[in-house]
Amino acid sequence: MQNLTYTPKNAWKSFADETELAQVAKFVERYREFLSVCKTERETIAYVEERLRAEGFSDDPQSGMYLANLRGKALFAARRGTIPLSEGLSLIAAHADSPRLDFKQRPLVEQANVAQAKTHYYGGIRKYQWLSRPLAIHGVVVRENGERVIICLGEKPEDPVFCVADLLPHLAQKQMEQNLREAFDGEKLNIVIGHKQRFTGESEEEGQGEEKKEENPIKKAVLELLYEHLQIAEEDLITAELEVVPAGQARYVGFDRALIGAYGHDDRICVFTALEALLASEHLGRSKAVIFWDKEEIGSDGATGASSRFLGYCVESIAKAWEPEISPPQVLLHSQAISADVTAALDPDYQDLHEKQNAAQLGFGPCFSKFTGSRGKYGASDADAEYFAFVRGLLNHAKIPWQVAELGKVDTGGGGTVALFLAQWGMQVIDLGPALLAMHSPFELASCVDIYSTWLAYTAFLNR
Ligand code: MN
Ligand code: MN
Repeated sequence: MQNLTYTPKNAWKSFADETELAQVAKFVERYREFLSVCKTERETIAYVEERLRAEGFSDDPQSGMYLANLRGKALFAARRGTIPLSEGLSLIAAHADSPRLDFKQRPLVEQANVAQAKTHYYGGIRKYQWLSRPLAIHGVVVRENGERVIICLGEKPEDPVFCVADLLPHLAQKQMEQNLREAFDGEKLNIVIGHKQRFTGESEEEGQGEEKKEENPIKKAVLELLYEHLQIAEEDLITAELEVVPAGQARYVGFDRALIGAYGHDDRICVFTALEALLASEHLGRSKAVIFWDKEEIGSDGATGASSRFLGYCVESIAKAWEPEISPPQVLLHSQAISADVTAALDPDYQDLHEKQNAAQLGFGPCFSKFTGSRGKYGASDADAEYFAFVRGLLNHAKIPWQVAELGKVDTGGGGTVALFLAQWGMQVIDLGPALLAMHSPFELASCVDIYSTWLAYTAFLNR
């Protein structure tokens, strides 16, 4: 008799033979290298654009391989299929930004013999996780005349790194009594950027009367270094976008190297796997597209975020070029989308926060979230049964492991993705992406088989 029960399948079982495991390892290694160098939305979009151009994608929609880069922070790419565009796109949407510390507009201060850069955190961080660990500075400084200076400091072995110095336990007794919100103050996330005192001569000789105090000599010395090496001054920092991120490479985790630990899996894991899926797709079937947005971690507002009209304009461009007689809103209405984002895996140490039957498990393939939002499904895009069943069928047909989950127990968890912004166009959309441990931390964990099967799932979706 047919087995009527449903049990999610462990993806390690699906890729048990040597050849398949070697393919998993090869793919994951390429992902690890990507994640080690793409730590900001700009770096990620630049990488994606370079890969697409190398494969023949261009700004010309007539070519059938179109890409549109919005200010280096968001990107749309589409490959024309043989089915009319009026039947809609197969679209995968992910985001390229991750939680981090941004430099304030006037960042530089000097206190107690160190120069620091003040920051303002971006996205949902647990502030204490950013203390006393090596950090790197990535970003762009733009001079008044428009010249851009690209900054990436703290990644090469010979580079210096930066850090927020945490309080020593000896003086933390009062802090230990406080709740986390009070104990870790956003105004104390100041990055150490210098310490050297530069003496000018004359007045410093010992015992020679009163020392003439120069104001902020350490900060000034840092500014001199910045000018010497990068020709930037303090005013240039006001208009800069400097992002402080964890320093160092993505690493294999565990004796068996079965996990990747890194900053920024959320959501570059989906950017990479969706990009690879588009690159591997063919000019057959439905037209396919990917869109990578910025600003998801702060609510998707802004020109480069999912709430902007960028997607609409891009679809207008391809519609005009490929099938001028059709209306772009119809293309969007008939499109089918995957909101490609990560979700929370069942945490071995906090299992009570999940409802286990509906929790994602590490190593069980990409995870469907029928809806996101919180409490009574507020703020959710809820996929319809017909579409969910259809995508589930696609994965089953291709023998790709998958699972389904909610983010935490009812009334405990919740979260948002770009799904609702896709849904605004009237298209069908469902969330599908890998589960992480320690999501939003400076060292998130992803399972190697989940990374690989997410790529397979996106490929099956685009190539149907
Ligand atoms: Mn995300
Ligand atoms: Mn996130």
